[in-house]
Amino acid sequence: TTAKPPRIIRQLPAHLVNQIAAGEVIERPASVVKELLENSIDAGSTRIELSLEGGGVELIRISDDGCGMTAEQLPLAVTSHATSKLPDDESLFHVGTLGFRGEALASIASVSQMTIRSRAEGEEGGCQIDIRGGVIETPGPCGCPVGTVIEVRNLFFNTPVRRKFLKTPQTERGHIVEAFTRLALANPKVHFVLRNGDKEMFDLLPTPRWADRIESFFGTEISEGLIPIENQDETVQITGYACDPSVSRGNNRMQYLFLNGRHIRDRALQHALGEAYRGMLMVGRHPVCFLRMRMPADMIDVNVHPAKLEVRFTDSGRVYSRLLQTLRQRFLSTDMTQRVGSNP
Ligand code: ADP
Ligand code: MG
Repeated sequence: TTAKPPRIIRQLPAHLVNQIAAGEVIERPASVVKELLENSIDAGSTRIELSLEGGGVELIRISDDGCGMTAEQLPLAVTSHATSKLPDDESLFHVGTLGFRGEALASIASVSQMTIRSRAEGEEGGCQIDIRGGVIETPGPCGCPVGTVIEVRNLFFNTPVRRKFLKTPQTERGHIVEAFTRLALANPKVHFVLRNGDKEMFDLLPTPRWADRIESFFGTEISEGLIPIENQDETVQITGYACDPSVSRGNNRMQYLFLNGRHIRDRALQHALGEAYRGMLMVGRHPVCFLRMRMPADMIDVNVHPAKLEVRFTDSGRVYSRLLQTLRQRFLSTDMTQRVGSNP
């Protein structure tokens, strides 16, 4: 009996599309930090400095010495689905960078007040752009060294519901430190600095020794119990460290797995770790590991999760058993009380 008039379908304006997209990847300040750090790493930076105010809600500032952007490219950086990382359509199937979706900057810019200053090599000077809630203000020239500085202020200022879900600055800062830790662990040759207010939390000098970077985060308790792992077959390479069972944790958060330079969480691989240590740990204890895996990009799909935390393997059974075997063999040939703190 009630009338059913046809609905009006409307094409959403870009800033709204970006806000919706932001809902998928930008959950909290730590997600901003992850995306910005990844961009700086993809830009080939050797030094990356991160500063926070108010747990990152008031301000996240990141500066790098990477390749920078030219004045004409800069507005494209904050346009959605615009990326320099897929030079042709085929490259989606062998992604070699941390980013490729071309959405992060547009998403972040749509829910914050963002300023980017950047200068590419060979350019006379730098360029600047200000974006407020996704609206670009006229770009202009500015003085700056080669590289990029991005400031993100007042995250979620225009999405009050999302802002309400934020926890205390200390909690948000904790999530940021975790995101920072993952990326700094994955890139020991990059110099990272993290500043919170006027306090310097980390100054991590570049190092060729992964154990050094691990030690600067977790101290000698962990670094002295590291058992080097190295194994390679035709397709899968596994290197890094498993920790002596005398160091364990009540949860599995100290299991750092990196796949082709990207930090991942993977249920099956965590299970493999648990199996490898079976009988060596008390019930309820979890091993501590830092493992880097490499395999051909066409054996993994990173495009299943917007934040790329989860990946899909074309042959997950094989990856599982490789990891399990590698650790088991190592443990068999190791006096588990041996300490290897000074191994490369
Ligand atoms: P994606 O990383 O998926 O390409 P983003 O939205 O994160 O998408 O970034 C868009 C583009 O902006 C990148 O492809 C890159 O060309 C450029 N860009 C972003 N951050 C930096 C940076 N720190 N240095 C140089 N270029 C950058
Ligand atoms: Mg990116």
